Amino acid sequence: MSGAVGLVPDWRTLVARQQPQWPDRARLGEVVAELAGRPPVVTPRECDALTSRLAGVAQGRALLLQGGDCAERLDKVSARAIRSTLRLLRQMSVVLAAGTGLPVTTVGRIAGQYAKPRSSPTETVDGRTLPVYRGDAVNGTGFTPTERLPDPVRLRRVYDASRYTVDVLRASGAEVFTSHEGLLLDYEEALTRPDRRSGRRYAGSGHLLWIGDRTRDLDGAHVAYFATIDNPVAVKLGPSTTPEHALALIERLDPERRPGRLTFVVRMGAERVRDLLPELVEKVDASGSPVIWVSDPMHGNTFTAPSGYKTRRFGDVFDELTGFVEVHRALGTHPGGLHVELTGEDVTECVGGGVGLDDLHRHYESACDPRLNATQALELACLVTELLR
Ligand code: PEP
Ligand code: MN
Repeated sequence: MSGAVGLVPDWRTLVARQQPQWPDRARLGEVVAELAGRPPVVTPRECDALTSRLAGVAQGRALLLQGGDCAERLDKVSARAIRSTLRLLRQMSVVLAAGTGLPVTTVGRIAGQYAKPRSSPTETVDGRTLPVYRGDAVNGTGFTPTERLPDPVRLRRVYDASRYTVDVLRASGAEVFTSHEGLLLDYEEALTRPDRRSGRRYAGSGHLLWIGDRTRDLDGAHVAYFATIDNPVAVKLGPSTTPEHALALIERLDPERRPGRLTFVVRMGAERVRDLLPELVEKVDASGSPVIWVSDPMHGNTFTAPSGYKTRRFGDVFDELTGFVEVHRALGTHPGGLHVELTGEDVTECVGGGVGLDDLHRHYESACDPRLNATQALELACLVTELLR
């Protein structure tokens, strides 16, 4: 991958979308310099282990389950909560593996999922406009000017929370990898190190990093940064993705066509997946590239309930997954797995399985997007297993 570095301009010279307007660049510089002197959260060896697991998915011999919070919260990090998410992911993996006969690689949206891309830079409530919440790595959820002011010191708290989370995961003994959206490039660069074994660069903030649907432009800073790291990487593909764009992403991010290196996470929406996905999969497959196809059946199906809560219908989530699997079955390609927002906590954020539109207020905890609760997530795992059999 170091071969690709020379071909791609330094990400710092390119436009980085969705970055916070840090009020104090000098303070940001201090925090970043401090992080650059700390040990990475994960090791290159672990990242390579994930790449080899994912190579099995790319070759149709395994499945990927990726899941966790939309946005982790610094104040809610606890061994109990981490174990509860882990337990749910393990249960889903066991269901999937037992029902399909395929090994399942489990990856949490965990230990670093603290930065959010947003559709608007500001939020207006009762005539007052403030910067939007961009994740605990950047600012706070409270609707006050102080809370919403980006604070670079939060990056150090994210690093500490990520290390703590990884410690708890490591002590569990179950093999689980970490992932997050690699959104804040100053933070990612500060934790990127050359591997002593090979000299190649690895992001040290998590095992797998993904590029979001809003930051996947080909000449943007995110794609350029991701081209310089050797971790397994993913890209979210929304409805505006053309086959040419997907092929160009492969060229930039996986020039060596290494199985397990690149995953496409498709999030088209239940209504459009059957129309939009076939051409993408067909053209990528025809190019001979070994990308992994995974369905995110949630981000294309979000709506606002009359009560004002952002939510998703379980039925839509399952419908998108069904469409995703149908498309792959028709083309003879491998439906590689799923990417979902979930929590082991007993929340009422998504509608279905006993949660109605009028129940959302009962236990709505998410700082950003609505998550499946444990009952809904296990139900989904059982239904998907039937589809994949
Ligand atoms: C997310 O995964 O929380 C997210 C913002 O997704 P996307 O980039 O697909 O919109
Ligand atoms: Mn989300």
